Amino acid sequence: MRTVLTIALLFACAAVAQAQWNIVERDKRKYVSLEDVANFYKMRRTVFDGKTFRLVGTGSSIQGGRAGRDVTINGVKYVLCFPMINEGHTTLISAMDVVKIIEPILRPQKIKNATAVKTVVLDAGHGGHDSGARGPLGVEKEAALDVVLRTKRLLEAAGYTVRCTRTSDVFVPLEDRAAYACRFANAVFVSVHFNKSNTGGGTGLETYCLAPRGVPSMDEENLRYSDFVQYKGHARDAENVALATTVHAALVRNLNLPDRGIKRARFVVIKNISIPGILVEGGFMSGTPDHQLIATASYRQKMAESIVEGINRYREAVAGQLQYQRPSVVVSATAPTSVPNLKVTPRSRTDNAASVAQAQEALKSSAGN
Ligand SMILES: [Zn+2]
Repeated sequence: MRTVLTIALLFACAAVAQAQWNIVERDKRKYVSLEDVANFYKMRRTVFDGKTFRLVGTGSSIQGGRAGRDVTINGVKYVLCFPMINEGHTTLISAMDVVKIIEPILRPQKIKNATAVKTVVLDAGHGGHDSGARGPLGVEKEAALDVVLRTKRLLEAAGYTVRCTRTSDVFVPLEDRAAYACRFANAVFVSVHFNKSNTGGGTGLETYCLAPRGVPSMDEENLRYSDFVQYKGHARDAENVALATTVHAALVRNLNLPDRGIKRARFVVIKNISIPGILVEGGFMSGTPDHQLIATASYRQKMAESIVEGINRYREAVAGQLQYQRPSVVVSATAPTSVPNLKVTPRSRTDNAASVAQAQEALKSSAGN
């Protein structure tokens, strides 16, 4: 009996020890070690060659360079809010990235205010006098509208209510698109675009979601004052990245173009909306083989099917009712065995709310500079 008790106590202690976050401050920003991340999410940590790392859990994985901004989580590429910091044997990742990327992806069923998805608001980029990107085989506004109309048909057949910011070749101001999306509850927003490269060429798929408050937009190293503005979309930070994950993963899996990753921006249509929202770039109008693919109906149909697949997976993930077992970027997250039993210790609070508070605190101190 005593042995059993001792073992039980040991397990209890281990559970508490696993749930600790040791937060350190670098450049007035909160960081935690990858070791803490591994312990919290019950993953094994291996550093391969001093430059790369890999955390492996039951059906989940996180890997990347030890000092960069690129990570791959469950096979999907993300650009972190802030670069990781390499200190000897320890690699630090910002608390913001743990709260805003890793947590909602590994445990989407824990997203607090996520609501069931009944309505999808689709936004075909550009329109009317605004053609968007031009390529040798067509213009962006037409390809985007075609994908939206195909997606609409598929979603309606699956029982969703669908609303579109435009269903013909008309110009709709960005602010009006965002305001329109705000009229719907239990809804998600997907804006469809195609890319262009200023130098010509370009290839691959990327998906944008709103940069959290205090996080620079992509391709910006430094923070601007405007990066600290609170937008409507920030209430949906967790859902935004979860939706970006499921849709982007489906696009990458089905369209066979390079994965350019899930990125952050402050586009009007994703910052001024009150429902979870993303913007997908389904290849380059200017690039090869992208522009040839985009010109085919079969590619645009596959893109529509992928958006539907992503929305279905998001809906199931936030509802904790995941049906797909594999391949799925959120499979591990929704498996009951992968959900750690969190214990809040007085010295080191580990719940999500506390991490958010810490991240916010960190933001306040950077905002004061
Ligand atoms: Zn566009």
